[in-house]
Amino acid sequence: MDKNVLDRIEIIQGDITRLEVDAIVNAANNRLLGGGGVDGAIHRAAGPELLAECRELGGCPTGEARITKGYRLPARHVIHTVGPVYQGRPEDARLLAGCYTSSLSLAAERQLATIAFPAISCGVYGYPLADACKIAIDTTLAFLGEHPEIQRIFFVLFSDSDRQTYSAYRQRLA
Ligand code: ADP
Repeated sequence: MDKNVLDRIEIIQGDITRLEVDAIVNAANNRLLGGGGVDGAIHRAAGPELLAECRELGGCPTGEARITKGYRLPARHVIHTVGPVYQGRPEDARLLAGCYTSSLSLAAERQLATIAFPAISCGVYGYPLADACKIAIDTTLAFLGEHPEIQRIFFVLFSDSDRQTYSAYRQRLA
């Protein structure tokens, strides 16, 4: 593993709505009209202007991403991506990887340098965290290798045990 690429990812525990980055990623649903979990927390913190902009987008297919402003968040933008509902199919991994590449592609297009991801699909959508963590980190590292303009990716885990799972996998790659 190229150490410089690995050094551009950081794993932290906390609330993603508090981060002052170019974009935070929202684990949204297909309608993009808000919901529970991290989606609800992001909409509450961003204020009603976020929902108004999301309404204009007309939804988003699973595995793809859309970008809006961050409104009252400390983050400048929100990238909304729709993870798969975990069903144990090979398709799930492909769709989850698509969430990371689509989100990072939007960030690169907009020249955003710092991006924070939650554990997409790992809440009510039921994706096993250890499997999702490998997809998140492997897909992101591959993308960073091709995009030197992206400076830093934060993986923001809500619980300390989730943070430990991510940190252990990152350590294995070092
Ligand atoms: P999904 O529907 O994609 O499974 P959820 O919002 O239910 O999305 O959960 C995704 C992950 O986000 C879970 O690991 C959950 O613990 C975490 N999470 C919930 N709120 C926050 C938050 N404010 N900051 C960071 N992570 C959060």
